[in-house]
Amino acid sequence: MQNLKYVKPTTIEEAVSLLANGGATARVLAGGTDVIVQARERKREIDLFVDIKAIEETRQLSFDAATGLTVGAALPCYIIYNDETVKSLYPALADATCIIGGVAIQGRASLGGNLCNSSPAADSIPAMIVLAGEARVAGPNGRRSVPVDQFCTGPGRNVLAPGEFVVSIHFPAPAANSGAAWERFIPRNEMDIAVANAASALRFEGDTVAAARVAIGAVAPTPLMLAAAAEALTGRPLTNETIAAAATAASAAAQPIDDMRGSVRQRRHLASVLVERTLREAARRAGRQL
Ligand SMILES: Cc1cc2nc3c(=O)[nH]c(=O)nc-3n(C[C@H](O)[C@H](O)[C@H](O)COP(=O)(O)OP(=O)(O)OC[C@H]3O[C@@H](n4cnc5c(N)ncnc54)[C@H](O)[C@@H]3O)c2cc1C
Repeated sequence: MQNLKYVKPTTIEEAVSLLANGGATARVLAGGTDVIVQARERKREIDLFVDIKAIEETRQLSFDAATGLTVGAALPCYIIYNDETVKSLYPALADATCIIGGVAIQGRASLGGNLCNSSPAADSIPAMIVLAGEARVAGPNGRRSVPVDQFCTGPGRNVLAPGEFVVSIHFPAPAANSGAAWERFIPRNEMDIAVANAASALRFEGDTVAAARVAIGAVAPTPLMLAAAAEALTGRPLTNETIAAAATAASAAAQPIDDMRGSVRQRRHLASVLVERTLREAARRAGRQL
């Protein structure tokens, strides 16, 4: 482990100033399940941890039927997936957060940390993308919102500028006749990195899909939102054929690599299988049977 300093600000302004003055070797500390491992293995040069957990907004979980759900960036997964509102109105978020690591990891790991670590395989990101999540960012130039689908720019890289951090993630209120779902494939039940993951969200008007969002992860340098898959679904009734077209679009959009967890061929196949499964589950949650 490196020698490093630790500070625990209680306001957003204080955290921004500490991060801005700390420069490139100052890092936000949320649950620490990624960054402490990276510091111990000297994968990142860090000399200051700015622990954001004492800032009230980073631990909030609030829902308003008109505006939606706000999840503090440092709120641990177990609080998210045990929340009744999340379970009933945002089950895709519960799907993803209840599977990150194991119970011990879920006691610390946060959505903000999963997003800002910006791993291509981060499990919560596809769920946040299809739920139209927006990262609420604070920094030296004030506040801004970044759609989650535009947040990651490469493996371990994202749009945050020096001194900026994510305060919370906001999700719009779910529309009537809508549903969303998330799934991943790993060779065992838990404590592994996704070989592939996917999420889908559907909104129906009558029998027609009025809006669709589809995202895949672990099959490209960043999690991907799939415009072609959404196009294959929108404006049509949901059928085995439209689902197959969206699944084909997913495997075509995937740009996977071969590694110890899976091959290019397997990951392309998984992208289509997981998109199909999440579409069927999203439809079921929207009250539709195929
Ligand atoms: C045993 C084990 C199993 C795991 N299993 C999974 C898994 O199944 N799926 C999965 O996706 N991940 C998994 N992970 C990775 C990790 O647990 C998740 O990425 C987790 O969500 C990170 O959240 P955290 O709060 O611990 O982040 P931290 O480790 O505190 O931070 C991660 C990175 O993001 C930065 N950061 C954190 N919060 C913010 C913020 N609000 N604003 C700006 N920057 C910020 C930090 O500086 C750091 O660079 C696992 C890790 C371990 C050790």
